[in-house]
Amino acid sequence: MKVQTRIWTPIDFNRDGKFVDCLRVPYSSDRSAYGWIPIPIVSIRNGDGPTAVLIAGNHGDEYEGQIALMNLARELKQDDVAGRVIIIPSLNYPAVKAGRRVSPLDEGNLNRMFPGKALGSPTEMIAHYVSDVLLPMADLAVDLHSGGFSFDHMVCALIRPGRNSEETKQLLELVQVFGAPASFISNGDGGGGATTLNAVSRELGVPTITTELGGGATLSPLGLRVAEEGVRRLLKHMGITPAIVVPPSGGSELMEIPGRDYAIYADCEGLFQPAANIGDDVHEEQIAGSLHSLDNPNQPPLQLRFPRAGRVLCRRFPSLTSRGDCLFELMRAVERKE
Ligand SMILES: [Zn+2]
Repeated sequence: MKVQTRIWTPIDFNRDGKFVDCLRVPYSSDRSAYGWIPIPIVSIRNGDGPTAVLIAGNHGDEYEGQIALMNLARELKQDDVAGRVIIIPSLNYPAVKAGRRVSPLDEGNLNRMFPGKALGSPTEMIAHYVSDVLLPMADLAVDLHSGGFSFDHMVCALIRPGRNSEETKQLLELVQVFGAPASFISNGDGGGGATTLNAVSRELGVPTITTELGGGATLSPLGLRVAEEGVRRLLKHMGITPAIVVPPSGGSELMEIPGRDYAIYADCEGLFQPAANIGDDVHEEQIAGSLHSLDNPNQPPLQLRFPRAGRVLCRRFPSLTSRGDCLFELMRAVERKE
């Protein structure tokens, strides 16, 4: 028998109207034996029509999406919607509250725990609820990420290839509608592989746009604007908010990360001195930066060079670095096949 989620909410997603409440994640602790953790949620339904599930705060220290979705949730009225919009601005709420990527309750990295577990830890339960309850309702999903504390990141959208050419074609169309300055296709190799929200929604056939909207656990004004306008354009394009006012998309440059050799990882600990900025076009063997010894002032720093030519997609944000930390990732323009 299928195990049901333990998460509950007073909201009936099939009821017309605008409802603001929370998901309740059961969590028994010293200070609250029968308590629950709230995850704010807004459901706006107005008759039959497609459903959009809009998510931010999957990682707690990524802010552009959280603010963009709260602004949208306040703005949208029932009459603006033809169908249904479900908005969750702070999906891993305990992580958001702690200002961290992962949850302080179980050290859970939500976007590495999909499809989740119905009877798991709080973060596993949240992943399962999204996989089992929310995504099956969705005709469109948006999961707004940024670089977080450890990365400075170019503002871009991200898709996985669909299960067939039709799905991929639709996703390529949706990233042009979303209109981030750059968009890239990834199979998740560099990040969460099959454990992300995007991976689950692909298996369910739900067209999904993910983003990276800045980084350093601060707020990028460009990233916020791209999120605000991009989400509105997607809702309009899908006919869910037909009359919403939003400027047209300026299009998006299609990029790719061809393989692991487009990244630089630290091979020793040290203080990272970067020599390139995000968005820079770099050539093969160009100096990328150096790593200074923590222990020996007399030791020359380890010099790092870019292994390939490309554009700097993201760069490590904190200076203190351990062996295995990702320092740079490069992307390059997708070659057109005409
Ligand atoms: Zn993230």
